[in-house]
Amino acid sequence: FSFKRPSNEMPNDFKVNSVERKELKFKLEEYSKKVIEIPLIINGKEVRTGDMGEVRMPHNHKHILANYHKAGEKEISMAVEASREAKKEWENMPWQMRALVFKKAAALIAGPYRQVMNAVTMLGQSKNAYQAEIEAVCELVDFFEFNTHYISKMYKEQPDSTRTVINQLDYRPLEGFVFAVTPFNFTAIGGNLPSAPAMVGNTVVWKPALTAVYSNYFVMKILQEAGLPSGVINFIPGDGAKVADVVLKKDDLAGIHFTGSTTVFNSMWKKVAQNLEKYKTYPKIVGETGGKDFVVVHPSADNNEVVTGLIRGAYEYQGQKCSAASRAYIPESKWAEIKNSLIKEVKNIKVGPVEEFSNFVNAVIDQKAFDKIENYIDYARKSPEAEIIAGGTCDDTKGYFISPTLILTENPKFKTMVEEIFGPVLTIFVYPDDEFEQTLKLVNETSPYGLTGSIFAKDRQAQLKAIKELRQAAGNFYVNDKPTTAIVGQQPFGGARASGTNDKAGAEQNLSRWISPRVVKETL
Ligand code: GLU
Repeated sequence: FSFKRPSNEMPNDFKVNSVERKELKFKLEEYSKKVIEIPLIINGKEVRTGDMGEVRMPHNHKHILANYHKAGEKEISMAVEASREAKKEWENMPWQMRALVFKKAAALIAGPYRQVMNAVTMLGQSKNAYQAEIEAVCELVDFFEFNTHYISKMYKEQPDSTRTVINQLDYRPLEGFVFAVTPFNFTAIGGNLPSAPAMVGNTVVWKPALTAVYSNYFVMKILQEAGLPSGVINFIPGDGAKVADVVLKKDDLAGIHFTGSTTVFNSMWKKVAQNLEKYKTYPKIVGETGGKDFVVVHPSADNNEVVTGLIRGAYEYQGQKCSAASRAYIPESKWAEIKNSLIKEVKNIKVGPVEEFSNFVNAVIDQKAFDKIENYIDYARKSPEAEIIAGGTCDDTKGYFISPTLILTENPKFKTMVEEIFGPVLTIFVYPDDEFEQTLKLVNETSPYGLTGSIFAKDRQAQLKAIKELRQAAGNFYVNDKPTTAIVGQQPFGGARASGTNDKAGAEQNLSRWISPRVVKETL
C-alpha cells in the first residue's frame, strides 16, 4: 500500500476563551514552573555526561527552563556506533513500517502533544503562539505526512523492462550514517532534518542547536513514543564544532543534513574535504543556510499589500527566519505614503514576552544574537549614509528585546542592505520610478545569497520582468506576497548561491538525496 497526498495541517487561531487557548496557557504555566533535565538519547537510552548547559527563556533570561547534558568525544562515537547497529534492521524494514512511525508522530503532535509543542517552542525560543503553531505543530506534521506520501510516489518509479530483460530500481539508503545539524529558529526543521533521511532507511546522528534543545528534546521523545526503534536517530546536544570534528572524521559518514549559518556550513565542507580520503563513499551534503531576502515594489503595487508584506515578512519571529524580508526597494512616487504607513504600523507593534498573546515581537534568541543585531543598528545610526526612521531600541535587561527597526539608506550597497542580520531590521532603498529595470539588476547583484524574494506589482509585465530577471536571485519567489512562510506541499523551500544546496525541504527532491539507487538488470 502507499500513502495518499495529505492535506495541510491547519493552524489554530487561539481565539479568546477557546479551549486551545486555555490549554496552551495551562501548558505555558506548567512548563514555566519546572526545570527539566535533558539527557542525550543514544541507542534509545538516556545518557548523562554531567557536562551541563542551561536553557533560559530569551524573553526572561534569569528564568531557567532546563539543564541539558553535552556530548563529549566518547558519547559522539557511541552515537555513531548506535546508528551503525540500528541500520541493519531499519534499512531492511518494509518502508511502509518506517513511514508509519512518522505518521504516528504526526498524529501525536497534531493531537495530544499539540500545546506542549507550542508551549516549549514559545518558552525556549521566544516565539509567539501563532508563529509556534504554524511551524512547531503544522509544518512539522506536514513534513512527516507529506514526506511519507512523496516516498510512496518515489518508490513506485521503475525503469522500463522488456520481454527478456527485467530492470529494477532498488532504493537503497546511503551506505553509512547521516549527520543532522539543526537550527534554533524552527522546531519543525529540528524534527525534519533527522527524520527525512531516516524515513528512507538511513540512521542518523542528530546535533540540535543548543538554543532549541528544549523543544527538540520533546520532538525526540515523541518520535520514540511513536515507535522509532533505538539507535535510528541519536540525539546528542553538544558544542557544534566539537561534535562536527568528531563526527566528520568517521569513515562511514554518508550524508550531512544541515540548516544554519553559511559560515558554519562552509566550515563543514572544509572539514569534509580534509577527511575525504577516509570516507567509504562521497557524503551527500545538503544545506539550507543564510539569506538576504528582498522585496521589490513596482509603481503599480497596492500599498496596503506592500505594507502588510513588509511588516510580516520582516518582523515575524523577530526576523529570525532565513527567509525574512530584510531589504526593500521602493519607488519614489510611493515612498511618502508607504513610509507613513510603515512607521505607523511599526509603532503599533507590541513587543514583549510570549505569555501575552498580543505581543507580535518577542525576544531574540540569545545575548550573542542581541549584540550582533545591536551592532548593526548602531552602525546605521552612526553612518552618514543611513537614517533610522523607526524603532532602533535594544534592551537586554530582562530579555533580549529589540524593537522592530526601519533603516533608510541612500546607498543601495549599504552594509545592512547586503549582510544577513537575522533580527527585526529592515533596510529600505528608494529608487527613481523610471529605473525599475536597473533596480532588478541591483537586487540581483547586491547580496551573495539566493534564498527568497518578492515582487509587489499589479502590472503583469512588471511581474514577468521580475520573475525573469531575478531567476537566480531566489529559490522561493513570491508575487504580491511576503517572502516568508513557505508551506510544505505548496512552496517547497530552499535557495542556492550562499543560501545552500537548494534541495527543497519537504519535497521529493530532498528525499532523493538520502538514497543511493541500485539498478538490478535481470536477463531472462
Ligand atoms: N521555511 C521558512 C519560511 O519559508 C524559513 C525557514 C528558515 O528560516 O530556515 O519562512
